[in-house]
Amino acid sequence: MVATSSDPGQLWAAVLGQLQMQVTKPNFDTWLKHTSGLAYADGEFVVGTPNAFVAEMLEQRMYSLIAQTVEGVVEAEVEVRFAVESAWAEPSHELADQDAGTGHPHPNPLPQGRGREDGLPLSQGRGGEDRLRSPVLNTRYTFDRFVVGKSNELAHAAALAVARQPGQLYNPLVMYSDVGLGKTHLMHAIGHQIAARGMSLIYSTTEEFTNSYIRAIREGTTDEFRDYYRNEDVLLLDDVQFLIGKDQTQEGFFHTFNALHMTNRQIVLTSDRPVTALTLLEDRIQSRLAGGLVVDIQPPDIETRIAILRAKAESAAAGQEIADDVLHYLAERIHKNIRELEGSLNKVIAFADLMGTQVTIDLVKRAIADVVETAAERQIPESVVIDTVAAHFGVSVETLKGRKRDKKTSLARQVAMYLLREESQLGQSAIGHALGGKAHNTVMHGCERIANQLNVDPHLRRDIINIREALTAY
Ligand code: ADP
Ligand code: MG
Repeated sequence: MVATSSDPGQLWAAVLGQLQMQVTKPNFDTWLKHTSGLAYADGEFVVGTPNAFVAEMLEQRMYSLIAQTVEGVVEAEVEVRFAVESAWAEPSHELADQDAGTGHPHPNPLPQGRGREDGLPLSQGRGGEDRLRSPVLNTRYTFDRFVVGKSNELAHAAALAVARQPGQLYNPLVMYSDVGLGKTHLMHAIGHQIAARGMSLIYSTTEEFTNSYIRAIREGTTDEFRDYYRNEDVLLLDDVQFLIGKDQTQEGFFHTFNALHMTNRQIVLTSDRPVTALTLLEDRIQSRLAGGLVVDIQPPDIETRIAILRAKAESAAAGQEIADDVLHYLAERIHKNIRELEGSLNKVIAFADLMGTQVTIDLVKRAIADVVETAAERQIPESVVIDTVAAHFGVSVETLKGRKRDKKTSLARQVAMYLLREESQLGQSAIGHALGGKAHNTVMHGCERIANQLNVDPHLRRDIINIREALTAY
């Protein structure tokens, strides 16, 4: 049965109908009966569960069955996410009691949620407005499940510090990176800790924030809008790059931000551009942003990618050991986006499940052929990397490939080595060759040095970010 509706509630009803035939009745009654379809957008289907335990169980024991069934119903690839539903529907203060101890956050009805008190129509049911409501924090996005490596340890440390002492250390905390590198994960992790300590928080995507603000303007309730946020201990606003070009919403953001900031409430923002690229934001927001701490997350190095895959494999493969060579195969090929990395592993596990076989390299090759192809397509030709690095440091390509060893040239050369490894996926000998015949050891040392320095040297980070930005334009 294929649903024709796009209403998440109806779609989920169809999914449940199918699941009912596939699992035993006690299982169905215990785990599935009281679930609901909360939202379906952007390839993500959010399933509401009565509590965190059910979410955890469904996630661990029935994920592939559920995901496959949902995909069958919606006829598209879907990522399924579980969220505690009570947190969607109840007013925040009741929820705090009800969910105490589970580490779940207050819900975060944006101002339309307050509409109920204000006598406006109740739209938080399972209707089409769900899209506009803030999702609750993802139960999987905890500090526990965040693998720390060189590329993200600053952001991780900052997030942890803010979660422990909100409003006291870095305010605002801004995290930025390319997509799929863990910003939202860290933001939710902060939220879980804050909620577990009984403090109140609002998590909102900037898109939702914008929608609510526009609605508030339309309905003449901007004061309520501001008051609503002013009462919370912590504001987590995801993807603020969305504010670029939205002058009116920036205004609302600024007032909200000020109200919170002046009373030392913690504000955490994420962006997929460096803050310098947020120049489109008004100056006054800029300077406020600069008052806090800005941390970036870089693409993970190979060790971190393997560690992430290993952690995911342990939680996803329920009993099935996934061999190291398989993890290495994936980690070597998918390097820029952790979401893709995870997705490929899930795909491999699902594939093996479906075929009733073990996960072998052969199977992996077949399962992720398409993913690897797109990753390969994205490899940047070595000449482009070399030209871009040379131009960035103001040295000639010949010098870069030559023997000169002054400070500037050496740095430029090592950056080139590092980026040839990361962006062009070259091996050490190919890198040596591309740079005019450098020894294997020299290349290894160069890459290592940059990887380490990136961690402690903000100027170098900035260099790499700018070069990468230039490379994406390629
Ligand atoms: P972003 O917000 O930067 O686009 P997300 O936070 O949504 O990225 O992360 C994408 C996916 O990768 C999520 O499923 C997240 O759990 C996972 N992920 C990112 N970084 C890590 C990490 N260090 N350890 C484990 N999982 C991670
Ligand atoms: Mg995100």
